[in-house]
Amino acid sequence: MAQVTCSFCGRNKKDVDLMVSGISAHICNFCIDQAYQILGEEEKNKKPVKNLKFKLKKPKELTEYLNEYVIGQYDAKKVLNVAVYNHYKRLSQPSSDKDEIRIEKSNIIMVGDTGTGKTYLAKTLARILEVPFCIADATVLTEAGYVGEDVESILTRLLQAADYNVEAAERGIVYIDEIDKIARKSDNPSITRDVSGEGVQQALLKLLEGTVVNVPPQGGRKHPDQKMIAVNTENILFICGGAFDGIGRHIANRLNTQPLGFSKRTETNQIDRANLLQYVTAQDLKSFGLIPELIGRLPVVTHLDPLDATALKSILTEPKNALTKQYKKLMEMENVKLIFEESGIDYIVEKAIEYNLGARGLRSICEAIITDAMYELPSDENIKELVIDKKYAQEQFEKSKFKKLQVA
Ligand code: ADP
Repeated sequence: MAQVTCSFCGRNKKDVDLMVSGISAHICNFCIDQAYQILGEEEKNKKPVKNLKFKLKKPKELTEYLNEYVIGQYDAKKVLNVAVYNHYKRLSQPSSDKDEIRIEKSNIIMVGDTGTGKTYLAKTLARILEVPFCIADATVLTEAGYVGEDVESILTRLLQAADYNVEAAERGIVYIDEIDKIARKSDNPSITRDVSGEGVQQALLKLLEGTVVNVPPQGGRKHPDQKMIAVNTENILFICGGAFDGIGRHIANRLNTQPLGFSKRTETNQIDRANLLQYVTAQDLKSFGLIPELIGRLPVVTHLDPLDATALKSILTEPKNALTKQYKKLMEMENVKLIFEESGIDYIVEKAIEYNLGARGLRSICEAIITDAMYELPSDENIKELVIDKKYAQEQFEKSKFKKLQVA
């Protein structure tokens, strides 16, 4: 009888653990293993990742979701959600569309004080849409050739967030923080080179508009031998944010110098001077020092409102993962009931306002107040309840490092 050999590798039946026979061929267990691996690789390469199959939610639906996490900021939510909705609608536009109306990209710029939720909004939105998301800091970016990070490094981060799935990354969202810090120092175009500001703005232009960039997968210049990955930024949504300290002056100037007619005068009187950011326009961003080309590539401008005591209180207690809920959960795991009294919450809010830290301060203040308890309680089984009222909060806060640090 003829010897049975694997039709793929030629191994003899006696040299393998298993030989599967077909009509006129055989395959050994080694080749089955290998074929299975090849199949896996192929699948990985062609399978649209879960990220790409998101069902696009309508702007109002997006707001409903956002409301579960982000308090207030209704203007920003509305503008952001419309822009995001249109952006992803644009992506679903078939390239064969006959009427040749190409929908343009709607990158976004958000102006708002620090700690008012700019990053949080962008991040939450990306999570809802299930698209890769990364945060880049404009202050560390430099023009190519200078010390610092090239703008391409932003895409390295996005690729990492997308598990190196290029297709997914190409539909992701990038949040560029502190965009105001790369403003040029004056409104006049500089004659000399301005490494920190204008050059970086120039470098960002192509990225924002849409171009194919060769991205070093490991980032940086430390791995000169790495194979570059080509990423097309055409469908990546860029959201930029910044505090734009002092932009209020530009806005006020503009509002005041608008030609006043009889009707205009009453309008001017109605200006809410406490929150000038709500009137921000592209023109103010230009006066602040962003170059017109960059502003042109960030067509959607919106603002975030400053957070007052009521908003901070809501942030502390209402969102799905509100801080107080998180601490309660932590304590629950120790079988301790944690109660935040109204007076305790008011105290935390008061301190956050005093230190001018926006919502970001709430966390550190809470930590300062609760750390002692979280240290003691796990080792003391007799304590079943902890009440945080004003007295307790004040005592803990006064002796905390936070207080000392801030005073110093
Ligand atoms: P920034 O405007 O400086 O980007 P962040 O988005 O980083 O501020 O906000 C810091 C933190 O404060 C967030 O992680 C979030 O927990 C909280 N926060 C800020 N604004 C809000 C808000 N409007 N609703 C709920 N939480 C908020």
